[in-house]
Amino acid sequence: MITLQDVKAAQENIADITRVTPIFTSEQLSEVCGMEMFLKSEHLQKTGSFKIRGATNKVKQAVKEGAKYITAASSGNHGQAVAYIANQLGVPATIVVPVDASECKINAIKAYNGKVEKCGTTSAERLPRAMELAEEMEGVFIPPYDDPLIMAGQGTVGLEILEQVKGVDAVLIPVGGGGLIAGNLVAIKESNPNVKVIAVEPEIAQDTYLSILNQKITAIPATNTIADGLRTSQPGELTFPVLQKYLDDIVLVSEEEIRNAFSFVMERMKQLIEPSSATTIAAAMHHKLDLKGKRVVSLISGGNVDLEKISGLLK
Ligand SMILES: *Cc1c(COP(=O)(O)O)cnc(C)c1O
Repeated sequence: MITLQDVKAAQENIADITRVTPIFTSEQLSEVCGMEMFLKSEHLQKTGSFKIRGATNKVKQAVKEGAKYITAASSGNHGQAVAYIANQLGVPATIVVPVDASECKINAIKAYNGKVEKCGTTSAERLPRAMELAEEMEGVFIPPYDDPLIMAGQGTVGLEILEQVKGVDAVLIPVGGGGLIAGNLVAIKESNPNVKVIAVEPEIAQDTYLSILNQKITAIPATNTIADGLRTSQPGELTFPVLQKYLDDIVLVSEEEIRNAFSFVMERMKQLIEPSSATTIAAAMHHKLDLKGKRVVSLISGGNVDLEKISGLLK
């Protein structure tokens, strides 16, 4: 299992690439939630999500060990982040995306000089292809979450939160494969065990919720939640034990609650965040938490939304 030292090492390793993102507050949001709310703004991170943190930590190590080629399997934020950092380090990258990936996501990868290969519609088809490509080209495949360097990189958000929000009581974090929350659990709990860390998941993508309940990794069928960064079908082999060790609570939010939160942040706070991030605001706005009057950070994980989809996401 990774440790606080690994997260601190990652922080040093990625500092020349990533931004220390700002914290937003809103009196209106705090009032609606009945808590003092702070938004950690990874939607303003390079490449539009926190994924650049883990990707940078991992790709730098691979290049240091002689990698001449990088691959990943993702149409979303992980793919963009890997393409960006590979380009920065001068190593060619191929990102394997589903055949139905949106033009806008493909263009974002290409804008970072990433090569795009289309393959199938599921991650079960994309992952082996990206691994095979890496092998053929003597390159390195960069996994999206289930990797110690990726987890440690994502955990650097938590170190910043502890610096930026003095006296924080709780941090709300969305869960897909669990790399973001696992890294942040280690960063936060091993720095200050009194800070509560709470996971948020869509009701219709409740694989981590069920896994915690069953005390073992539990898979769900494919889901089409609007929180497209959280559509993974099960938590990771490496991420899940960290959740079992440190997680204080996990709560579920409905699609409608996610839309409400997305619309509130857009209309009142003038911020474009993605539905995956709106889940944490939704949990606070719809009183899923027992944190009345507390200082609560909502980890806004990203802000990449296809512009033509925005009106469909509003309530
Ligand atoms: C990847 C992603 C998540 C989930 O992160 P995991 O490490 O897979 O749990 C949440 N929000 C956004 C915006 C993401 O890109």
